[in-house]
Amino acid sequence: MRKFLIYVYSVNAIFSCCTDRGGYKLKKDKVDIYIESLIAKRPAFFLEMELYADENNIPIMEISGMEAMIQFLRIKQPKKILEIGTAIGYSALRMAHALPNTKIVTIERDEERAHLAAQYFQQFDHNGQIHLVKGDALEAEELARSYGPYDAVFIDAAKGQYKKFFELYSRFVNEQGIIITDNVLFKGLVAEEVIQHKRTDQLVKKIKVFNEWLMSQPDYYTIILPVGDGVAISQKR
Ligand code: SAM
Repeated sequence: MRKFLIYVYSVNAIFSCCTDRGGYKLKKDKVDIYIESLIAKRPAFFLEMELYADENNIPIMEISGMEAMIQFLRIKQPKKILEIGTAIGYSALRMAHALPNTKIVTIERDEERAHLAAQYFQQFDHNGQIHLVKGDALEAEELARSYGPYDAVFIDAAKGQYKKFFELYSRFVNEQGIIITDNVLFKGLVAEEVIQHKRTDQLVKKIKVFNEWLMSQPDYYTIILPVGDGVAISQKR
């Protein structure tokens, strides 16, 4: 992502190009590129993490999606956030940095990523805002519940399991709390009629089923923002 941003800044031009996230090629449109070109540069340690994620093929939230989510959180000022899917801790640190009075509980099942996240938190979580839970979010329910309840939940883990995460963790969300779900447009593939690869096609179908389910939940008002990889914001009714 950082390479991509530098490219955009340096040529100061607006045209379509591709980035790679988690093995999927994403064709960015002119509007995305334009929006990203306006976003202020992050502090050096965030750029370093973005570069690390890019070079090591670690999927982190798209910059414009991240900015949109953080803006919602700034307005909402949650006291406690639960994040499902830490990876190396980039989004947890971005939230902690933007919301200095917020506590964040974040769950990661990949040992290597969790280890890296712990190192980054030690270095950059100066106020001890972040608590890392190592393990599978589908099995860490009791532990996560013990740290709750939460004013916001951010779902950014295995895309095929989103409904399960939502059903499991929405129970620990406060009245008027919000649930933010990333990747709901999955590189725009949800709007394609034909998808070449069978595995991708199956995943896209699951995301579409989740989106339809999410949008029809009677207990939540949900909107899908076409920023980054598609961000759904659900507010408890
Ligand atoms: N939120 C991070 C960010 O933007 O910096 C990126 C998270 S990455 C897209 C998804 C992460 O979720 C991966 O590191 C993966 O190992 C983790 N994950 C997937 N399924 C999980 C589960 N069931 N429990 C815990 N972590 C999970």
